[in-house]
Amino acid sequence: AKPIVAFVGRPNVGKSTLFNRLAGKRISIVQDTPGVTRDRVYAQADWLKYEFTMIDTGGIEPKSDDVILKQMKRQAQIAIETADVIVFIVDGKEGLTAADSEVAQMLRRSKKPIVLVVNKVDSKKDEENLYEFYNLGIGEPMTISASQGLGLGDMLDEVVKHF
Ligand code: GDP
Ligand code: MG
Repeated sequence: AKPIVAFVGRPNVGKSTLFNRLAGKRISIVQDTPGVTRDRVYAQADWLKYEFTMIDTGGIEPKSDDVILKQMKRQAQIAIETADVIVFIVDGKEGLTAADSEVAQMLRRSKKPIVLVVNKVDSKKDEENLYEFYNLGIGEPMTISASQGLGLGDMLDEVVKHF
């Protein structure tokens, strides 16, 4: 079977933007029990000689902070259970948040390979928040701009290293 790469991160960090950019035409939505936010979107992608399945664990995007945290933890759990590589996405314009730190802790304990990706680094000036993400204890952050298509090759090189 192809390796599975799961995208995890707070609402609005750009998970779906990245997912859609990397996806081929073959996107499928998997909906579990109604009322349970375990919806996942799958797509096939490839990079160099590698083919893999991506999962966007976004689901319904909640509004309140405690619901966001609960949902992120659920997403992280799905990713830990199913993925071969976890791409943890944070927002370079917003900077580090408490929810990012809690989810990072869960992901770290899982011992699965994690690639830390700082999105929305559209230009040099968006790099000013970069250093705080080292506090997540996941290693060196990769910077990308999903909407501008910057840094995606370097990010994918890092992802496929773990296959
Ligand atoms: P998700 O909730 O994590 O799936 O985030 P979305 O992909 O829905 O994106 C949330 C918002 O961030 C949208 O308005 C996107 O256009 C915007 N966005 C996504 N990627 C980037 C980026 O690289 N730079 C900037 N400036 N905005 C982005
Ligand atoms: Mg989304």
